[in-house]
Amino acid sequence: MSNKTILILGGGVGGLVTANELRRYLLSQHRIIVIDRQTQHIHNPSLLWLMIGWRESSHLQANLHQLAHRNIEFVQADIQVIEPDNHRVQTSAGEFAGDHLVIALGAQPAPELTPGFVEAAHTPYTLEGAVQLRQALTEFKGGKLVVAVTGLPYRCPAAPYETALMLHAYLKKRGMRDQTDMVMISPEAMPMGTAGPIMGNAVREMLTERDILYRPSTPSQAIDANSRELVLNSGERVPFDLLVGVPAHRSPQVVRESGLTNEAGWIPVDANTLTTRTEGVYALGDVTVIPLPGRFQPDAALTLPKAGVFAHRQAEVVAFNLAAEILGRAERRAFDGLGGCFVELGDGRAGYGAGDFYDPQAPAVTLRNPTRYWHWAKVLVEKYWLWRWFSSRFATVQPIGDRLLFGRTSR
Ligand SMILES: Cc1cc2nc3c(=O)[nH]c(=O)nc-3n(C[C@H](O)[C@H](O)[C@H](O)COP(=O)(O)OP(=O)(O)OC[C@H]3O[C@@H](n4cnc5c(N)ncnc54)[C@H](O)[C@@H]3O)c2cc1C
Repeated sequence: MSNKTILILGGGVGGLVTANELRRYLLSQHRIIVIDRQTQHIHNPSLLWLMIGWRESSHLQANLHQLAHRNIEFVQADIQVIEPDNHRVQTSAGEFAGDHLVIALGAQPAPELTPGFVEAAHTPYTLEGAVQLRQALTEFKGGKLVVAVTGLPYRCPAAPYETALMLHAYLKKRGMRDQTDMVMISPEAMPMGTAGPIMGNAVREMLTERDILYRPSTPSQAIDANSRELVLNSGERVPFDLLVGVPAHRSPQVVRESGLTNEAGWIPVDANTLTTRTEGVYALGDVTVIPLPGRFQPDAALTLPKAGVFAHRQAEVVAFNLAAEILGRAERRAFDGLGGCFVELGDGRAGYGAGDFYDPQAPAVTLRNPTRYWHWAKVLVEKYWLWRWFSSRFATVQPIGDRLLFGRTSR
């Protein structure tokens, strides 16, 4: 067996898990290289806690150079060209080539797609945005608070609704909820539509119970920064004192130019193996598009939501199958479409929705009632995430997975 190099593009959820899992299976003779333009890995779910002051920026990040503890090479560089056929990339730090390529470059917020967004809206969808929004909230004196999804697709189906629910709890605690009219506006027909109607109705009820006016199927086209109004597609203008926006997302430009994408710029992959149309090239996580078999809304073609839980589980499958291929083993795994996420309420409680997104009838997802237990489970996941993938205590000395999963260590 010859030494192999696996090039992993992106050090977010998918890239990080792929690299770590591969290192569990493969001896150090095989090189694992992660390339990302950012040195810091950010645990995105915690951005909403940062928004309301429950976290500081330093609590939710880890340095990707720490991967060196695990014999994973990290290169901080901007990836400028992907050559899938050659398994090669051009970056700001030079050229890199591998025997296998894993693309996990994610989806990027594109606020510029909505005129006026950058000038007038706040967003918790980036670290800088969450910090600025936190400041804006401390200065907010009540009035009209609009939470708006200004374009599709976006990451994490729950996050815009969690944002609205958590802002309600935050304002209530500060004694300002009575002075604030809250509206939640979205182009989607129901909250978390891809998770199915049980989940959607449960979240809608949570909004209504908290006196948050919910306006589904309401696309917007622009934000008038001068008059401080959200301009809907219908022409109606919705005034705001504070606008919290969830912008449309796009795939990174380098991906759109890679020749691997569909017209919308996302990479179609096999729903179970995450292989692309180019041999030796996998793609996983938010950068991909996977149509879902189940339909429950007439005329609505659904795709797998962009969420870390799927990037994580897909990465485990890709790492296993790649390692098996390199080690000449016959075993293969398949991604099954199962996933779940917390719905944080901001009052110390969270709900938990989970189910089968590949169910042929409709996504079979149900919501467990909000309790303190689910909130603490979410806190534990945050702590575990940053410890599991970055702590030097987990440094890989000997790949154990090969022996455990394949029966013996390959040399
Ligand atoms: C506020 C918020 C809350 C969320 N909450 C949840 C949640 O509770 N549960 C859940 O499952 N998901 C949640 N998500 C979604 C989750 O964070 C993403 O779905 C997940 O990170 C996707 O993983 P990925 O590996 O596909 O992409 P990412 O984690 O986004 O990683 C992509 C990486 O590629 C890098 N990159 C991109 N382009 C280039 C380039 N040209 N050169 C070099 N590097 C590049 C980026 O810097 C990034 O590090 C949330 C997201 C947000 C914003």
